[in-house]
Amino acid sequence: MSKAASLRIQIHGIVQGVGMRPFIYKTAKAFQLTGFVKNKGSSVEIVVSGEQCAMDGFLYELKNNPPSNAIIHNISMTPHTKVDFQDFRILHSSKNTQIEGCILPDLAVCEDCLEDIRNQRNRRFEYAFTNCTNCGSRYSIIKELPYDRGNTSMGCFSMCSKCSDEYEKPEDRRFHAQPNCCPACGPKYSLLNCHGLQVNCESPIEETKQRLKEGKIIAIKGIGGYHLVCNAEDETAISTLRIRKKRPCKPFAIMAYKIEDIKQICTLSNLEEETISNNKRPIVLLNKNSNTLLSDMIAPNIHQYGVMLPYTPLHYLLFEDSLKYLVMTSGNISGMPICYKDKDAQERLSQVADFFLVYNREIMTPIDDSVVKVLNEDVLISRCGRGYAPMSLPMDSPYEILSLGGNQKASVCFLHHKIAHISQYLGELHFLEACNEYRAVIDRLSRLLNANPEIIAHDLHPNYFSTQFAKKLEKKTIAVQHHHAHMAGCMAEHGFQGDGIGIIFDGTGMGIDETIWGGEFLVGNRSKFKRVGHLEYVTLQGADSAIEEPWKCALSYLYTMNEDIEIYFPGLDGLQMQIVKKALLNKVNCYQSSSMGRFFDCIAALTLHRSHISYEAQAAIELEAMVDSTINDEYYFSIVEVEDGTIILEYQSILRGVLEDLKNQQPISGISAKFHNTICNATVACACRIREKFHLDNVFLSGGVFENAYLLKNIVFGLKRSGFHVFFNRKVPSNDGGLSFGQAAAAASILEEGAYVPGNSD
Ligand SMILES: [Zn+2]
Ligand SMILES: [Zn+2]
Ligand SMILES: [Zn+2]
Repeated sequence: MSKAASLRIQIHGIVQGVGMRPFIYKTAKAFQLTGFVKNKGSSVEIVVSGEQCAMDGFLYELKNNPPSNAIIHNISMTPHTKVDFQDFRILHSSKNTQIEGCILPDLAVCEDCLEDIRNQRNRRFEYAFTNCTNCGSRYSIIKELPYDRGNTSMGCFSMCSKCSDEYEKPEDRRFHAQPNCCPACGPKYSLLNCHGLQVNCESPIEETKQRLKEGKIIAIKGIGGYHLVCNAEDETAISTLRIRKKRPCKPFAIMAYKIEDIKQICTLSNLEEETISNNKRPIVLLNKNSNTLLSDMIAPNIHQYGVMLPYTPLHYLLFEDSLKYLVMTSGNISGMPICYKDKDAQERLSQVADFFLVYNREIMTPIDDSVVKVLNEDVLISRCGRGYAPMSLPMDSPYEILSLGGNQKASVCFLHHKIAHISQYLGELHFLEACNEYRAVIDRLSRLLNANPEIIAHDLHPNYFSTQFAKKLEKKTIAVQHHHAHMAGCMAEHGFQGDGIGIIFDGTGMGIDETIWGGEFLVGNRSKFKRVGHLEYVTLQGADSAIEEPWKCALSYLYTMNEDIEIYFPGLDGLQMQIVKKALLNKVNCYQSSSMGRFFDCIAALTLHRSHISYEAQAAIELEAMVDSTINDEYYFSIVEVEDGTIILEYQSILRGVLEDLKNQQPISGISAKFHNTICNATVACACRIREKFHLDNVFLSGGVFENAYLLKNIVFGLKRSGFHVFFNRKVPSNDGGLSFGQAAAAASILEEGAYVPGNSD
């Protein structure tokens, strides 16, 4: 018999509100250990005493089978002197300890709770707010920390005696589940018409189902805001939704009843199946099945659907065998932030929705659904929202920094106690509503994290709302160049220190020479960089309008080559073209751009004859969808070196190749493939030249253009084949959603190296 021992164990990470203490309690009991467990600050502290072999078993379970929602950053152990405990207990944490850094994302309903709502004899039968320690709302309902019921929007619902009993019992899976409730004591759904008047009915959820089957559009209040919902098998409902929402083409996300139903409309790999089913329940971009039975109107001109599975009890209650697919799109009017306050929703969505399915609990912070995709063996995040946000990634820096992100796909990041906390996706900061929400989220996060950073990192662009906001905070500011932030973020995500090559392809970002960059080859580290190459500059006319009207972008490119544009856009007004040409000639409202995003827009506009777009990067996305991946051909490209040693990837020969094929009426799928292949091969060729000069072989790929999966996959493949170590964003979006994290990484390194110059952002 081995001798008794006693240990003090401290677990750091996201370990509170995830069922850690009940798990420890049960495991300690199972191994007949004595002692106690309690929350201590943001960690969990355990003292256990017992036979050494039982202790080993306990530690094995702790390390290998912790509760699925816990994220353990580290476990530290020290011997403990006291060994004679009577039993094992869960001790209450002292009320006045400030709990920091433990904001949990919202989690999908678990299997046990689903069983409860499906069981006619269970008191939670068909109850839409059923939850437990393993599932349910968290971040979206928290007002303040510590995470106690009174500090959530559940505070105004007092638990009935049955719920209280569960809450108090360590063996119960609802032990200390803060939002614990039941039909007797919790929130309720009700159905309103578009004038805000209650619809008299026995069951609002059953009634909603009937209305969906009739083809109606319902605004449904969910976890992080309202969704606009209609039957995805009803073409008329979808087209009505498109018209009312003023969203002609942008794909709608679909929610499907079961994984088998998804397989009817999409092909999916094992990893895709796992990803779509996990308890974060993101929207996953999946390839359409060739015999999909759903309308083309859901995701016109692209080869993918954004699909998710139900994630709240309500969602499960909405589906049945005759209602298997729902369009579930963010409840907003084109471009505006998602509605999450009842009054706003009823005002703004009354022209869109026929009915509102609402409930009487407040949403504390707006959160959109997350969007991810699977590339080979990796899950890549495109939009960090529900289930993922706030995201916490370790960043080994003593500095306290708030970084403000960019102007599109805004997000903010708090570097606090060596953890980078990245906010949810906050949309486009073009609208007043979005800017207000952005400020509110900064306020809330700083309170929840108890962070008061002295340093503000922001983009170089003087006109970004976030840049102007940085100035108003009257703190030490550090301006981080846009593409450097993308590179630093990619390095930090992979824990990489040192020098590397950054290949950053995106739409728009202010360069240090005040031109617009976006097809960039950088050399450097997290704190500094040198621009060693880029896509050749073109003079673009018309600022933002060149993005929304890609024909202008195409015209700007062709203008430099004395090529006519009229034949590609036969429907376009000739006078308008003359005006743009004149503006180019006289350099009115013109700027220099090396943006890869714009080059894709130009090629896409010409190839698809797409003069206007109605959502971001629409033409480029449609061009990617056309790629015939069996074609290995490419266009001729040239790379030149200018006097100062900068490598320039020229666009003219590539564009000529495309025009030639267009004139010869070659199939679009082939042109698209050849163009993509050219960019891939040219990128690898540039990287090889840079390696020769700088002797670096770690490459970091980032920027919004890498949302293009074909491009990313083939550039990664090409670089690896040429002997590079390749890194790209996975956890953090490669688009501007990841910019705040990158700014924090860059600013932290700049401070660490003492490279900070006061006032350098002015
Ligand atoms: Zn549950
Ligand atoms: Zn109750
Ligand atoms: Zn960017």
